Amino acid sequence: MLLSMEAEKPGEGMVDYHLHTVRCGHAVGGLEDYVSRAVELGLVEIGFSDHFPLLHLDDPSLSMALEELPDYVREISEVAACTEGLTVRLGIEVDYIDGYVDRLAELLQPHPFDYVLGSVHFLDGWGFDDPRYLDGYRGRDILDLWERYFQVLGDAAECGLFDVLAHPDLIKKFGFRPPGDLRRMYESCLDRVAGSGLVVEVSTAGLRKPVGEIYPGEEFLHLCREREIPVTLGSDAHAPGEVGWRFHEAAALLLRTGYREIVLFRKRERWSLPLPARRNGVWG
Ligand code: ZN
Ligand code: FE
Ligand code: FE
Ligand code: ZN
Repeated sequence: MLLSMEAEKPGEGMVDYHLHTVRCGHAVGGLEDYVSRAVELGLVEIGFSDHFPLLHLDDPSLSMALEELPDYVREISEVAACTEGLTVRLGIEVDYIDGYVDRLAELLQPHPFDYVLGSVHFLDGWGFDDPRYLDGYRGRDILDLWERYFQVLGDAAECGLFDVLAHPDLIKKFGFRPPGDLRRMYESCLDRVAGSGLVVEVSTAGLRKPVGEIYPGEEFLHLCREREIPVTLGSDAHAPGEVGWRFHEAAALLLRTGYREIVLFRKRERWSLPLPARRNGVWG
């Protein structure tokens, strides 16, 4: 029997590279439920990318413990090996925290990840996207905050740990947005992203959040396109029903901004696939 990990690279199809598992402490559903939903939607490939253990903070409601990492890797690899009909990749979502890059590199190295998503959820120790810490916005200058965010995102792009930048304009999550033209801020960040050869994730998770908008926004994605930064797709599903959620809107946004291909990964190596069409709610 041909194992799906070893299956031929597909010719066309939709993928979802950002799925969580119960190990992170804030997701629900069995791995098989995520897989069945993906099959139902006609996806050709999915990747689990649960939160890597946080090293700077002890909070079991945010990530698995470090001791669990080998179990996570084994479990996803087993699901990948016994799933037929679509390919399952082994990913991980890692927080970029200044000062922890060498340690993270050491901890990631032994595992056979297909890709590593890099995320900025913390700015100078503050979990700015965590509704429990919304208070942190009080009295802050939103423009300064956004400048800091895109500077740290650029640092993340250049740190060498990541293949993909997840939800690249996450800072807009609660809808606090500085007035005026943000192009220059995006451009200086994206020059660094392009220079580092990273892929940007187009994430429908933002549609579930107060901002009600795909990450990244259209202007940001245009600037990615201008720099020929490749893209991949993610739902950031924390429940099986969120797999591939509203991907037709992400595909429409990609087409509008001039994208015709999405990127896939295997063992940190990447290639592209044409954006597929969707018929009667099913991809392919
Ligand atoms: Zn999460
Ligand atoms: Fe994230
Ligand atoms: Fe995530
Ligand atoms: Zn996420």
